[in-house]
Amino acid sequence: MTPVTITPASASTEQPVACIRIEQARLLYAQAPLGTLISLLVAPTLTLILWGVMSHAVLLAWLAILETTLAVRFGLAVHFERQARQMPALDTLDNLTATVPWAERWIARYTWACTASGIAWGGCTLFLALSPSLVYDTFIALILGGVLMGGVLTMTPVLFTYFAYALPLALPTVLWLLLQDDPLHVAMGATGLLYLLLALGTAQRHHDTILRSLRLAMENLGLAHSFAHAKEQVEESNRRLAEQQAAMRDSVEAIRELYRVVSTPCRHPSDQIQALLAMGCRRFGLAIGILAHIEGERYEIIQVLSPGGEIAQGDTFSLDDTYCRETLRTQGPLGIEHTATSHWHSHPCYRKFRLEAYLGVPVRVGTTAYGTLNFSDFRPRPTPFTTVDRELIQLMAEWVGGALEQERMATAAQRQQALLAHASRLNTLGEMASGLVHEINQPVTAITLYTEACLARLRRGDIDPEETRDLVEKIASQSTRANAIIQHIRRFARQGKPQYTVNPVGEMLTEINDFLELETRRHGVRIGYDIAPDLPAALADRLQVQQVVCNLVRNAVDATAASTALRAVTILARAAEAQIEIAVRDSGPGLKPEEMEQLMHPFFTTKPEGLGLGLPISQSIVEAHGGRLWATMNLDGPGMTFHFTLPAASSTEPRTQRPAHALEASLAGRF
Ligand code: ADP
Repeated sequence: MTPVTITPASASTEQPVACIRIEQARLLYAQAPLGTLISLLVAPTLTLILWGVMSHAVLLAWLAILETTLAVRFGLAVHFERQARQMPALDTLDNLTATVPWAERWIARYTWACTASGIAWGGCTLFLALSPSLVYDTFIALILGGVLMGGVLTMTPVLFTYFAYALPLALPTVLWLLLQDDPLHVAMGATGLLYLLLALGTAQRHHDTILRSLRLAMENLGLAHSFAHAKEQVEESNRRLAEQQAAMRDSVEAIRELYRVVSTPCRHPSDQIQALLAMGCRRFGLAIGILAHIEGERYEIIQVLSPGGEIAQGDTFSLDDTYCRETLRTQGPLGIEHTATSHWHSHPCYRKFRLEAYLGVPVRVGTTAYGTLNFSDFRPRPTPFTTVDRELIQLMAEWVGGALEQERMATAAQRQQALLAHASRLNTLGEMASGLVHEINQPVTAITLYTEACLARLRRGDIDPEETRDLVEKIASQSTRANAIIQHIRRFARQGKPQYTVNPVGEMLTEINDFLELETRRHGVRIGYDIAPDLPAALADRLQVQQVVCNLVRNAVDATAASTALRAVTILARAAEAQIEIAVRDSGPGLKPEEMEQLMHPFFTTKPEGLGLGLPISQSIVEAHGGRLWATMNLDGPGMTFHFTLPAASSTEPRTQRPAHALEASLAGRF
């Protein structure tokens, strides 16, 4: 028979009594077939022995009653086994609590059946009364003693069941024997009584032993359960630890990869974002990477990586037709591994573009929502996005937001610098105003004189065509000179965005030669040039470079003002690796070391009327070109030299030739 299985969980210390009770029922029924079988064999044997000396009807009636009770017991045992097999596992407290009444019911049924068997066996007292001789009496008593003791072995798992069986079985016979007149029968009755007491006592001891074993078994099961539970817990925590370690390794690798991409030097943000999109596609196993700008309902592709060319930079869509509307709503990473099998299958994006997999996150620039960074594919993603994937795309979006913010600030700074440079140029012009007026005045005065001479000759009628042509040519030449100065001033005063173009250094310097001459001449300073031949052209904004040279020359002129010796300024230019170095050298007194340290600080000036902005502005112009400005004391004579570098045109891609990027447009136009 297969009894109810007590699983470790059900043997928890909270319910030992319930478990023991169920086990008692199990043991009771486990022994039932044996006890029933023995009785089934013994009863017909007794009938056969008594067949010749007693009424057949009485014998058959008794046998029928007894065998019926035995059949009931056997039937119960079979039925119990069947039910026990179908019982739910006793692994929860609820199941256990529900099983105890079930076990009690089966114990009660078997106890009733055993009581009936006991009564039937007790009916043998009638055979004693009808017995023809003492031999038969002894045999009957022997049989009864046997079945009484047999019950001790098979029924004691439940003591009450045995009592209910043994008392009706033995008491009638014992009482009958005790009530007989002859001492032999009385002695048999007394012995029977002793046997009965012995059987009951043995049953009690046997029952106690069974209970103790069961309790021990329960305790063992409890222990085994605790061990199993602890083992499971250890295994579970090991598994979780391994998972965490794998996730940790994965995230370290992801962060390392992200760092590699964003830390590659000298990259324009748009190049870095492009590399980031490539990294995201690789990492998430998705084909398409997009940085999108969202304005109202307009979704515009700012940068894209789309191997199939399905989506291009500058494409626009309605926000409703993208998963990004939901990404913005979520305010965090949104991942869809397989749209067709998810609740997203009715989304317009899926209906229109059949995008099966998607991972996107909002991008913020400062405190403003900019758009989304998203990756997608027309094929479903075989595995779900991990926490690391979501954290990584979040990091990527934060970096992109930061890069866009930086780009925005750089654009604003460039605008500010251009404004400042313009203001500085106007300031220079203002300071040079008296010299310039004088410079323009000269040709204008000459024009006036030549014109008056012409008119005088015309009035006198003294017209010599040769002389008149000479005078008019002089007027034209002076006009050209005045016009050239005015054009220089206009160009110098012009305001505009920096234009980084290819500029021959000699040309740039020649264009401001007039200005510089005017300035140096006015202060009695000699200006000289030392330009290396075959200089490569510079990649620069012509006007801004000229402004820097003007600033440096004017400072040099100021520095030499107090000098009594030869006052000279020299402009030098030479190639230095992939750069061009331009220097302005003077013969002034130079600066003290502590002043040298402050030279580039804004508002540092030693001049009574100075602003202390010329050098910082010049420095920012040079640095915006990718160059450097510095000063050195002259070692081979008095004075100092200011140097600055510019990138040679061949060394880099001309910045004006780079197509205006959608990224810059998206920042310039919208922030
Ligand atoms: P400002 O000319 O208005 O003072 P700058 O920034 O052009 O402002 O110059 C800052 C200071 O640097 C000057 O006041 C001067 O002391 C020093 N300086 C600049 N050029 C020279 C030079 N060639 N020789 C000595 N000192 C100089």
